[in-house]
Amino acid sequence: MKLSLRGVGKSYPGRRGETSALFPLDMDVREGEFISLVGPSGCGKSTLLHIVAGLEPATTGTVDLDGERVLGPGAEIGLMFQQQTLFPWLSVRENVRFPLTLAHRRARAGAADRARQEAARVDGLLRLVGLWDFRDSLPAELSGGMQQRAALARALVGQPEVLLMDEPFGALDAQTREDMQELLLHLIQHHRITTLFVTHDVDEALLLSDRVVVFSERPGRVLASLDVTFARQARSSELKLDEAFLHQKREILALLRGRARTEAQRDRLLFGLTNTSPEGGS
Ligand code: ADP
Repeated sequence: MKLSLRGVGKSYPGRRGETSALFPLDMDVREGEFISLVGPSGCGKSTLLHIVAGLEPATTGTVDLDGERVLGPGAEIGLMFQQQTLFPWLSVRENVRFPLTLAHRRARAGAADRARQEAARVDGLLRLVGLWDFRDSLPAELSGGMQQRAALARALVGQPEVLLMDEPFGALDAQTREDMQELLLHLIQHHRITTLFVTHDVDEALLLSDRVVVFSERPGRVLASLDVTFARQARSSELKLDEAFLHQKREILALLRGRARTEAQRDRLLFGLTNTSPEGGS
C-alpha cells in the first residue's frame, strides 16, 4: 500500500471539553490511486489531509507512506489548497520553483547539475500547465484559474509521490473548473501520482476518481468507499448523462443526505427520472 491509515482520529480541546472532529478511521490507498473525499462541511476532511501531510498531529492512530511513519511534512507529499497560496512578491516561475529552493537549503552539495535539471523541470511544468508566456508575471496579474495552474505546477515540482488537494477548484468558475479537471486528469494519468482530493462536488469526484469515500457529519465517519465503475478515458461532460454515472451519483447523494430511500423515489426527487430500473445496476 502506498498510504496506510490506522485508527486516525482527531479531537480538539475546547472550553467545554474535547470536540471530536474526525472519528478514528482506517484507510488504505494503492499506488497511483485517485481518491475523492466527500462529506458535509466540518466533517474533518481538511483535518485528515493535514494529518496525512504531516502538518498536524493526529490525536489517535498512525499514517504510513510506503511502510514508513509520516512524522512531519516532506517532499514526497505535494499540497494544493483552494485559497490563493502563491507568494505575491515572487514571479510565477519563482513561485513554482520555490519548494526546490527550500530543499536546497537542506542539501547544498552537488548543486550545479541538479540546478540545471530542476530549471528544466520548472520550465517543463510551466509549459504543461500553459503558463510559459506568463512565467515572469506576478500572481496578481493572473486570473484565478491561472493562479491555480501555477499552484498545481508548484505542487508537482518536487515530484511528489502523493498529492493532497483540498477543494483546489472550489473557487473557480464552471468553465475554468472543467479545464482544470481535464488538466489534472492528463497529469495524473501520465505520472500516476497517488492522490487524495477533497471536494464538495459529487460530479467532480466521479469524473476524477478511482474511488469516492463518503463521510458522515462531524465527527466524520466513513459511510462508504465506492469504486468508480466507469472507464476514466470516457469521462467528459457527456458522461454526466451516462446511466452508470447517474447511478453512482444518486448513491453518493443519498448517503450525504442520510436518508434510505428506494432508488425509484430518489430518481423522482433528484432528477425527475421515471424509467430507471428499480433493481439498479451494480
Ligand atoms: P472539513 O474540511 O470537512 O470542512 P475540517 O477538517 O476543516 O472539516 O474541520 C473539522 C472540525 O474540526 C470542524 O468542526 C472544525 O470546527 C474543527 N476544527 C478544525 N480545526 C480546528 C482547530 N484548530 N481548533 C478547533 N477546532 C477545529
